[in-house]
Amino acid sequence: MDFDRAFAELRTGEPRLEHLAPLLRATGGELSRLIELASEVRRSLGPEVTYSRNVFLPITNLCRNRCWYCGFRQEPGSERAKFMRPEEVAELLELAKEAGCSEALLTLGERPEVHEEARRALDELGYREMTDYLEDLCKLALSYGLLPHTNAGILSERKLRQLRRWNASMGLMLECAAELPAHRESPGKDPKLRLEMIEMAGKLKIPFTTGLLIGIGEGFEDRARSLLELMRIHEKYGHIQEIIVQPFIPKPGTPMANCPSPSEEELLAVVAVARLMMPSMNIQVAPNLVRDVGRFLIAGANDLGGISPVTPDFINPERAWPELEALRMMIRSAGFIPRERLPIYPCFARDPRFVSDEVCAALIELMDEFGYRRLNDVR
Ligand code: SF4
Repeated sequence: MDFDRAFAELRTGEPRLEHLAPLLRATGGELSRLIELASEVRRSLGPEVTYSRNVFLPITNLCRNRCWYCGFRQEPGSERAKFMRPEEVAELLELAKEAGCSEALLTLGERPEVHEEARRALDELGYREMTDYLEDLCKLALSYGLLPHTNAGILSERKLRQLRRWNASMGLMLECAAELPAHRESPGKDPKLRLEMIEMAGKLKIPFTTGLLIGIGEGFEDRARSLLELMRIHEKYGHIQEIIVQPFIPKPGTPMANCPSPSEEELLAVVAVARLMMPSMNIQVAPNLVRDVGRFLIAGANDLGGISPVTPDFINPERAWPELEALRMMIRSAGFIPRERLPIYPCFARDPRFVSDEVCAALIELMDEFGYRRLNDVR
């Protein structure tokens, strides 16, 4: 199908795979038309662009998977393999509290305990399962007045239920709804498993962050299918709080070290199409991973994710986050209004079905009357 027909179809009907792929391929004048339309739709969300202030806690970089583009995972036994102890986590939480953060972002490789090194660390700390340790770290974060958001890869229903109580929101990137060579050594990247977990989070009413990783060998149809799957799940459960559109950035020493990042145009097309498909969804781009943040805001993004004043982006450590004031300037100069949010978006923060009793007390302390971050005493 050509662009004009696909464009007309998207304006009038239900998004369908055969319409989306030509739009995701758009460049030049066609991309400008797509962005113009997405921009119009984005306007109905109001002028605000949100971000949250977090501390990034890389609990462990041990992982059962081996994604060909990943620079975070380390081999067990290597000098760079890490497993954070509670006192290291507490130290960062203390710094985060002083810096006015509201979010404790717990990130780790998937099922690290398949490796002897992680198993031993858990035994020494007195935990049977990784999720038991994570549960205690979430409680620790709450005791500092920070709201946990855990990304632990694929979790069973039992483990999701366990962590739900102690997390304001949780996340799992879909990355791509198609099977890709880059995931050949990553059993946890089976798209079926990931879609099932995102659905399970919906059944359990967990405010959920997910998204697409662009440029890891997927085609335009795969991108379309990924967006359609997320739209389908969200229509069914209403729990997806944000969709991240993240570019692949090559990392030295990985099998994909010499592969190019996707072009800014490809990313803009994904943002614009996502906005047109899901007019009220929060669409996020990371300000340290794209060149021109303003273009993405105009194309339909309305969130810039978690920014940390105390820790680097451990997934893309070579890409420093902007200072908070610089970030606010970026937003203003694109014609929008910066607004700090919590790791749980306002509509979920104000809906008791999505907030556990355990999280509620810390949430009330941090939230303003509209469900955003209360900013009485933080800059
Ligand atoms: S699952 Fe995540 S941490 Fe593990 S190898 Fe893949 S990208 Fe890296």
